[in-house]
Amino acid sequence: MIWDELQSELDALQAAGLRRKRRTLDLPCGPQARVDGRSLVSFCSNDYLGLANDPVLIEAACAGARNWGVGSGASHLVSGHLTPHATLEQKLAEFTGFARTLLFSTGYMANLGIVPALVGRKDAVFADRLNHASLIDAVQLSRADSQRYPHADLAALERLLAASSAGRKLILSDAVFSMDGNLAPLPGLLELAERFDAWLLIDDAHGFGVLGAQGRGTIAHFRLPAARRLLYMGTLGKAAGAAGAFVAGDATVIDWLEQRARTYIFTTAGSPATACALLASLELIAAGDERRSRLGQLIAQLRDGLAGTRWRLLPSPTAIQPVIIGDNHETLRIASALHERGLWVPAIRPPTVPGGTARLRVSLSASHSDEQLAQLVDALRDLA
Ligand SMILES: *Cc1c(COP(=O)(O)O)cnc(C)c1O
Repeated sequence: MIWDELQSELDALQAAGLRRKRRTLDLPCGPQARVDGRSLVSFCSNDYLGLANDPVLIEAACAGARNWGVGSGASHLVSGHLTPHATLEQKLAEFTGFARTLLFSTGYMANLGIVPALVGRKDAVFADRLNHASLIDAVQLSRADSQRYPHADLAALERLLAASSAGRKLILSDAVFSMDGNLAPLPGLLELAERFDAWLLIDDAHGFGVLGAQGRGTIAHFRLPAARRLLYMGTLGKAAGAAGAFVAGDATVIDWLEQRARTYIFTTAGSPATACALLASLELIAAGDERRSRLGQLIAQLRDGLAGTRWRLLPSPTAIQPVIIGDNHETLRIASALHERGLWVPAIRPPTVPGGTARLRVSLSASHSDEQLAQLVDALRDLA
């Protein structure tokens, strides 16, 4: 029976220590979490600028709901595309410097829509091995030939491109890698895309709002131009503090995606109240140098604090700061010892990361206090 099969697979996950467990938080997203009545300082969220529970966004969402309602009522191409959505797309285009943008309900859906709309059976995708699951799934859905290159290895990518006789070629990469926090070599990727007449799609889920002048993202960080063959995907549920995603690019390409991206067409448009919150968020991001330098301070404080312990840090300039422990069981032990001390840091193990590199994935937010960070550093030094 299917139930027995599923139950025994669940039991196997449990036995292997791989069964995931949700925790219900009874406070809004922020550095101070409460789970089962227990207070914990959380280093888990992607709310890098502390905007998820910001009073300005909350007010914008409330006003947005009063003026535009809670639901959009239909998909964008039917009747769900309201003025706040249109304004948000326009503001995102101005902010990122691209000709046009298109909104999606989530980043996962954006990737699943973009890739199959651009490439198919006779085409090839060249993807970094450490790309996010949504990009991996998007390639499968497209049925294009999937070629994966070793992490950030431009020479290997160049060889694959040179040997390819595919029709269209699409290079896919996270801009900031979600388990390591490091940056993709974007200038080199763009140069290869130009040289081999390929498209380049960059997923900036963790860089948008955080990196580059005014938080314009990883492309701005590298001072790259809004090249025509470049597609930029940013998500709006992380640093932007709400929900959703967008893709920015050349007007013709975005026009095409509007006609062909199935996760754009066959789904209800996002809430107009969320779009209103995001318009406010975009202003806070643009004016957010203080939040970004605060985040930078916390990153430096953590890295300085852990220097000289036996645990390795990765060369991450971002809010994602993994502490490599190595052994799976030791990583779990450290995570639970931190938990005992009121600190919540996720333990990341294979297969999410390569064997022997189990880690604590510390996510910092501009809203963490010096004391909260010092508490984490002291606990980690003590446990090391
Ligand atoms: C979080 C994430 C996504 C998915 O975005 P959602 O809006 O949460 O669906 C896509 N790509 C990367 C690299 C991410 O980290």
